[in-house]
Amino acid sequence: MTHILIVEDETDLRDMLSESLEQAGYDTLTAGTISEARQQLERTSPDLLLLDWMLPDASGLQWLRQLRRARKFLHLPVIMLTARGQVSDRVAGLDGGADDYLVKPFSLKELQARIRSQLRKQNGDQEPERFESGGIVLEIDTHRVTVDGDEIRLGPTEFRLLKHFMGHPDRVFSRSQLLDAVWGQQVFIEERTVDVHIRRLRKALEPMAKNGLVQTVRGAGYRFSIRDH
Ligand code: CA
Repeated sequence: MTHILIVEDETDLRDMLSESLEQAGYDTLTAGTISEARQQLERTSPDLLLLDWMLPDASGLQWLRQLRRARKFLHLPVIMLTARGQVSDRVAGLDGGADDYLVKPFSLKELQARIRSQLRKQNGDQEPERFESGGIVLEIDTHRVTVDGDEIRLGPTEFRLLKHFMGHPDRVFSRSQLLDAVWGQQVFIEERTVDVHIRRLRKALEPMAKNGLVQTVRGAGYRFSIRDH
């Protein structure tokens, strides 16, 4: 469940935002002042903050600047909501640490699109861009794999398999765990299929003598390890 903290002093707008975001499947928390927002933030850990600029007790922007100084809130996605629409204000909002900025009145569709975009970005940021181990470099974005500097060609399944292994070095995965992680839980595939793709992956690594990194653990499954091979 994604929790969104809405900090907005206009009651009607706050209720409307809360209702529509709940309908869209989010869990919402609300605050009408900065001091309420502080309390909410201490008690809960929201995944995203919708923050009005002009609040009765303090400026949302100033509070945001303070928040960003704390390591804990450095990466909390924040969308500023404000009636101000001048270019200099936008710049101040973004400089102050907002990830995005919406000028009132805005459409709920647009707000929801911006929220999705922020949450996507947040999730994307957590995934490393590349894995490097035992002379193998796997780049997520470009789908390139090099071994000791030379590019090798992998099929899409072998790529996902290697990515999963390199993301969890030394961990042993059963065939069914690999099916869930690489093929997806909803797909019904025989466990033997895993063996087929493990063989293909090893074959691709064989010319560089890296096939031993993909190890069989008798009675348990497979692991990727740069040790004992
Ligand atoms: Ca306000």
